[in-house]
Amino acid sequence: MIDFKEIDQNGEEWELFARDFLQQLGYYIETTVDRGPDGKKDIIISEQLKGNLGNYRFRWLVSCKHFANRSRNSSVKEIDEPNILERLEVFNCDGFMGVYSTISSSGLNTRLTQLKENQKIKDYRILDHKLIENYLLRIGYSDLLMRYFPKSYIKIKPLHLITDNYIPLNCKTCGIDILQEMYKNEYHANYIQIYTMNNHSEHILDTFCVCKGQCDDFRSRNLPAGQYSNWQDIGDIAIPTKYVQWVLATINLISSGRNTYEESAFKKEKDFIIAISQKVVREMTPEEKERVKTLREYGL
Ligand SMILES: [Zn+2]
Repeated sequence: MIDFKEIDQNGEEWELFARDFLQQLGYYIETTVDRGPDGKKDIIISEQLKGNLGNYRFRWLVSCKHFANRSRNSSVKEIDEPNILERLEVFNCDGFMGVYSTISSSGLNTRLTQLKENQKIKDYRILDHKLIENYLLRIGYSDLLMRYFPKSYIKIKPLHLITDNYIPLNCKTCGIDILQEMYKNEYHANYIQIYTMNNHSEHILDTFCVCKGQCDDFRSRNLPAGQYSNWQDIGDIAIPTKYVQWVLATINLISSGRNTYEESAFKKEKDFIIAISQKVVREMTPEEKERVKTLREYGL
């Protein structure tokens, strides 16, 4: 999903990305050090570990390798990571970490496993392209995605936090998080309203989201007499223009008295709007996030 080739093979951008990414993961960035003749740099990071004898600062030597642009999408091999032990010793590090835009070769994996088994190094960790992608698709990482992979960002349409916590949009039948599922298939779920007819108005009794197909059939085709359902494709509501149209249409229907709601259904519809907004709105700038915090302190 993420095209790692967006980052230029030359220059320091991959190292900059790695540094920002590791910081976001919660590591403390200590320094960057020259690796040697290739002009590249290793990063020294640390994390605070809790042990039996109190806290312990574990230092990692991070090697960044950006091979995604190479012709055969090559893996990082043993020969690409020479002198691992020496590099760790010189900088007094406990463990080795690779941040790779491809994968590590089985030879390199074997070498690292041996070093650990022989207690030459305390630990090692490889963050390869799949693992990094898994993180970047999570909520809270979208600003990194936008900064370093702008084209992928547009294609992926990551979720953005609106409140302090992420709000999932669960299928009423199977419980799957529809917002996460939309990364694979944008058009796989519907928003359903259940209503009764009352003269010329519709009284909405319940609202919920369901996957299309089996999850939907099960619910909407077994309604008691006098109850009806309508549906909207959530994939359509997530399109900015359609989203605004849908919200305005909903307001108009309420204002004109054509739609009335059970209190619980009204609350659920508002919760739906908040949840789907996480897919529609853009990433806030740090200044905007600060502003929201300030306004909240004033109760606004
Ligand atoms: Zn479902």
